[in-house]
Amino acid sequence: MQLNLEELKNNISELDILWITGIFIVLMTLSSLIVKRLLRRPSALTGASRELLEKVLDSSEESVLVLSSSYQVVYLNTLMIKLLGLKPNNTSNQINQSIKIKVNKKWLRLDELIESELVSSGNKVYNLEHTQLRIHEKGTIPATMHIIQNSQMDDEWKYIVTLQDLRYLRYEEECRALAHRHNVTKLPNQNQALEEINLLFAKTHLIKGKIVFIVVEIDNFLKLRSLLGYEQSTKIIIKLANYLVSRSEKDAFSVYHMYSNDFLLVMKDVADPQTALNFVEELQAELKRFYKMQDVRMYLTASVGVSIYPDSGNTRNLLDNAYKALCEAKSRGHGQVHVFIPEQARFVFDELTLYNEMHLALENNEFELYYQPLMDAKNREVVSAEALIRWIHPVHGMIPPDAFIPIMEKTGFIIEVGQYIFNEVLKQQKRWELFKFKQIPVSINVSMIEIESGNFLGQVEKKLQESRVDPGLIVFEVTEGKAMESEKSTLKVFHELHKLGVRIALDDFGTGYTSFSYIKKFPADVLKIDRSFMEHILVKPEDQRIVLGMIELAHNLEMQVTVEGVENQQVADLMASYGCDYLQGYHFSKPLPSFEFQKLLR
Ligand code: C2E
Ligand code: CA
Repeated sequence: MQLNLEELKNNISELDILWITGIFIVLMTLSSLIVKRLLRRPSALTGASRELLEKVLDSSEESVLVLSSSYQVVYLNTLMIKLLGLKPNNTSNQINQSIKIKVNKKWLRLDELIESELVSSGNKVYNLEHTQLRIHEKGTIPATMHIIQNSQMDDEWKYIVTLQDLRYLRYEEECRALAHRHNVTKLPNQNQALEEINLLFAKTHLIKGKIVFIVVEIDNFLKLRSLLGYEQSTKIIIKLANYLVSRSEKDAFSVYHMYSNDFLLVMKDVADPQTALNFVEELQAELKRFYKMQDVRMYLTASVGVSIYPDSGNTRNLLDNAYKALCEAKSRGHGQVHVFIPEQARFVFDELTLYNEMHLALENNEFELYYQPLMDAKNREVVSAEALIRWIHPVHGMIPPDAFIPIMEKTGFIIEVGQYIFNEVLKQQKRWELFKFKQIPVSINVSMIEIESGNFLGQVEKKLQESRVDPGLIVFEVTEGKAMESEKSTLKVFHELHKLGVRIALDDFGTGYTSFSYIKKFPADVLKIDRSFMEHILVKPEDQRIVLGMIELAHNLEMQVTVEGVENQQVADLMASYGCDYLQGYHFSKPLPSFEFQKLLR
């Protein structure tokens, strides 16, 4: 809108300019509510200010109509003229007769609507969302309508009606939807896939089963396209899309049409990945008798790449890994299926190589702490966490601790890494405190080598003081068998740690041969029953008796009990019924990177 304020200044008072400019600025937002407020200003509009106001309304993105108290048209903006299909110089006074509005299944004229909804009810404002308008000779259109009764101005500017033509809105929505649909099959495309995958990953801790990504790509598609032509080859794609959609409900997966001839299938909660592979096999068989062109059956094959969370790595590269697997499948010929195997599984860990690389890894920040929640057995809330180290190797991917901790222990490097882990946990506790997350104790696994190293106690004390982390937020876990072998001097360290206020847990309990007299002397606060006992607990009365005995023993010694390896609800309930205090296991959550874990603390 072009406004010549200089020109206007000559005609109207300074005061008028002030508030008119105000109107202009505010009205740029063009909401009908703002129109309403402006027209309610106590002072009647002068000729010039009305002119300006009309100009402003003219630039509105809504259609505006002003009626007098006797429903005569006082003003229509350009959009309203267009909407009603009027000629600019013929803005008839009968205008309100030519629109019918659907209200509660009845078609009303504008004056009828105003009479019933504003005049007789005494309301000042009337809003009608998502209704329909019948406009003379223009048919029915979806619209939203607002009417304001202006009681403070002259009778001439009595009712301000604004209309929003929803056809344009729908068009915009359709455009937005199109950006998330593949133009050939109308299936959700890669944009939609990425959005939904991110949402899915944000909820991995709630998913009990595995997540399986399957990428299906029709083999030799370019050749098919050049042989069959665009139309026929597109039909193949559409047929495959329809087949996948038809199977998606039964086999519980989402289908995305990613690029020209490849589809991504996402299975969100799979108990056994073999079911996904069975589906892939059926798909391959289906493709072979899939497409007939002029009575000639085409023999089609597809290459398939599969990645599985958590087996194939973390969520961050699950999609990439599925595509890597697809590449591998394609490199082996047509109709092949390949499941992504992380480097760690393929790589035969060579102790010497790992040992050499670990020093650099510490410098390069390749170690990361994952956190696994421990739940209160009664109310199943997160009450603490265990920090578990991961080595994110630049070439081999994630290396599990069992592959490198023993080497670190053998070489003494665990002392340095142990300090790093302790520092990281302290930093994490500070961060959670700062960002007002629920503060929970974090357990740190420590090797006896660290405890026996001489200055373990001093380091812990110093770092606790420096960081000002409450010692009650730290638990050290030591493996039962190893702790029990410790000398008197080491036992003293545990007692000293206890005095500092940190707590001690006896890990993997039940796998060593602890003597009753020794355990009495050991200052443990928590006893963690080894996860091997949980494997057959539901069917082995013998294991049930042992576990019950261990819980009783611990409680008699005023220790609390955690069971690890809780993988399903029945085991969780059984352990709770045994009086166990904390539950830990995949049933609740796998170990998670801190940014994912902290969502559990909100
Ligand atoms: P752990 O202390 O017995 O740790 C528990 C292990 O059980 C973890 O394996 C965890 O991922 C796994 N786990 C948890 N819930 C379940 C479940 O429901 N089912 C099954 N099958 N497994 C479950 P992870 O993280 O591979 O750690 C293995 C071992 O490595 C640990 O055994 C611990 O001894 C050692 N470790 C891990 N992090 C550290 C560390 O920071 N320092 C030291 N010294 N040792 C560590
Ligand atoms: Ca542990």
